[in-house]
Amino acid sequence: MVSATLPSLAEVRGWLAEIPDPEIPVLSLADLGVIRDVAWEGDTLEVALTPTYSGCPATAFIRLEVERKLREKGIDKLRLVERLDPPWTTDWISAEGRAKLEAYGIAPPQPAGGPARCPRCGGTDLERVSQFGSTPCKAQWRCRDCLEPFDYFKCI
Ligand SMILES: [Zn+2]
Repeated sequence: MVSATLPSLAEVRGWLAEIPDPEIPVLSLADLGVIRDVAWEGDTLEVALTPTYSGCPATAFIRLEVERKLREKGIDKLRLVERLDPPWTTDWISAEGRAKLEAYGIAPPQPAGGPARCPRCGGTDLERVSQFGSTPCKAQWRCRDCLEPFDYFKCI
């Protein structure tokens, strides 16, 4: 009886994928890779989240947004759990998320710790202007080819 009224996990994932990242709205939480798992425990929906980095002010906001979205969809039995192990890394940003970042003018994170190319012109002659960009997650870089500054997503 009860199970017939529960939305499918695919449906739930679809809703969560609609929630934008509070710092970079072109990315959804799904693109960012912070939603680790969704599961039904009886009639309670359990959502496992991994915060992007400890102390990131976005984390509390993400929890609130997830809860608000699911309540809006009629899910009243809800449990949010934080999964800290394994820790989130920028490797979890999906390929789609990386493409969105670049299209938005933010160089996606690279294992080498600096941007691979200018998100505007594709130039590779780059210099770091500042360790701090418009948010704590970004550093500011500049391209020597087109002379434009751009943000680099630097969270690890
Ligand atoms: Zn450039």
